[in-house]
Amino acid sequence: MRKFGVSFNRITHVFISHLHGDHFFGLVGLLSTMHLMGRVKAIHIYGPVGLKEIIQMQLEVAKGKLAYDLIFREIEPEETSVLFEDDKVSVACFPLVHKIPTSGFRIEEKERERTLLAEKARVDGVKLEYFHRLKKGEDIEEDGTTISHLDYTKAAEPPKSYAYCSDTALSDKTVAAVAGVNFLYHEATFIEALRDRAKATKHSTARDAAEVAKRAKVGKLLMGHLSARYDSGKQHLEESKEVFLNSECVEDGQVIEVI
Ligand SMILES: [Zn+2]
Ligand SMILES: [Zn+2]
Repeated sequence: MRKFGVSFNRITHVFISHLHGDHFFGLVGLLSTMHLMGRVKAIHIYGPVGLKEIIQMQLEVAKGKLAYDLIFREIEPEETSVLFEDDKVSVACFPLVHKIPTSGFRIEEKERERTLLAEKARVDGVKLEYFHRLKKGEDIEEDGTTISHLDYTKAAEPPKSYAYCSDTALSDKTVAAVAGVNFLYHEATFIEALRDRAKATKHSTARDAAEVAKRAKVGKLLMGHLSARYDSGKQHLEESKEVFLNSECVEDGQVIEVI
């Protein structure tokens, strides 16, 4: 995060998919570093049953008392529910299919307010105090005339959505849970040549990831969690593109605009 200039303070919610080490062993280190850097703002952590005990135990044996609160919410393995919601986004979890209980996450932007045509409103002398109501789609009655929101606002961009699936074998339930998202991050640990390995470890191949993307009619597929045995994602990409063209292998630090 430091390398890519992402501020620790911007993180207020952490979602842990499952308790395999490559997905959460770094958490206690991150929490400790935030403490050392003077954090006082609480962090909400969502994850499988057992995560809270592990983190608390790690902090206790080190006699480390954090200067900020940790607020845990345990995710039930088979739960499909909204974990977090504010006026801008919601985050829901859904079950994946892996060797141990694992959740995927779907982040959904909420419908935005209409965009004000500020210049036009000013030229026509629309009062500042009405702007807020017009953006909400209200029409305003003033001295017997109607100020229509359609004249002074335009529709906002459609809400965006993103889903995160790691680690998992291919499942119909995943397809339903990620249906229609703009961007799908899906693990692609293997390629078809190692189909047996994928099956034994309940991971996906690039083709599996592409299958989900295609069937769920997502906008774009982002593949990651490639096995260390591969030097690049070239073969993964060749495989996925046969099924779902708009695919990409992503790397740490890559910035992707959700459009
Ligand atoms: Zn795993
Ligand atoms: Zn993993």
